[in-house]
Amino acid sequence: LEGGPIAAEIRAAVAEDVARFRRDQGRPPGLAVVIIGRDAPSTVYLEQILRGCAKVGIDARFAELEGEATETAVVDAIKDLNADPAIDGVIVQMPLPRTIRLRAVIAAIDPAKDIDGIHPLNAGLLRLGYDGFLPATAHAAVEILRRSGIEIAGKDALVIGRSAVVGMPAAFLLVKEDATVTVAHSRTRDLPGKIGRADIIVVAAGHPGLVTGEMLKKGAVVVDVGINVVDGQIRGDVDFESARRVASAITPVPGGVG
Ligand code: NAP
Repeated sequence: LEGGPIAAEIRAAVAEDVARFRRDQGRPPGLAVVIIGRDAPSTVYLEQILRGCAKVGIDARFAELEGEATETAVVDAIKDLNADPAIDGVIVQMPLPRTIRLRAVIAAIDPAKDIDGIHPLNAGLLRLGYDGFLPATAHAAVEILRRSGIEIAGKDALVIGRSAVVGMPAAFLLVKEDATVTVAHSRTRDLPGKIGRADIIVVAAGHPGLVTGEMLKKGAVVVDVGINVVDGQIRGDVDFESARRVASAITPVPGGVG
């Protein structure tokens, strides 16, 4: 499963939407990324956001706070962006410093600008099967299946990981696509048995080598969301070399972004 060509296809459609927005509104859509302190991995991610926006004509900017910023300062910065008519989407860079509560940040974001889908309103819309902003990684995991022509309806899908940002939204999206979904986590018994029965597996555990080829059903489809740094290299949660021999389709990690 190749992300690159799919990303290019989505980017071309978004560029058309952006051009229409610009004609209608007389300005480009605006995205703000709230950054609290700077660490190396998130800097790479931020550069990707800026580059992605530049390619399609979205006006993206950072709202930077220092690493020692108080929760009140972060909430105030988010409220300023909520009130800014040139800003249509707000992303708060995770993980947050320990001193800042995720709940306070989530509560501060205007659901209409919550493009990462972290506000309970958007999470609730997804849970009910209605349209709303979707957490991007979970959306991507299911979109790569859909756009690669993988049949999802009626299939047994296993999602490994139950986080609010990746595992659970991926599971709800797969239910929406009419899969029969099992959600596994660190307390799941007989994970290999569940892996062996699944037609589609989305792995988002943050545990390198958790899934190997011997565990898979012949012809299974595997989407590896995991990002782990092992000996200075990026690895997924799936042992790609053994899994590719059994799977009918599998995402490499790292994948291309087009
Ligand atoms: P997270 O909040 O740490 O959640 C991990 C989930 O996996 C938890 O539900 C945990 O179970 C479960 N888990 C951990 N070890 C397990 C094991 N041995 N067996 C079964 N389940 C296990 O992580 P996250 O934010 O969801 O991210 C998951 C992975 O995706 C990470 O590698 C992260 O780096 C990656 N990620 C990738 C992207 C991307 O763009 N590709 C974006 C975001 C995240 P419990 O709930 O029981 O603890």
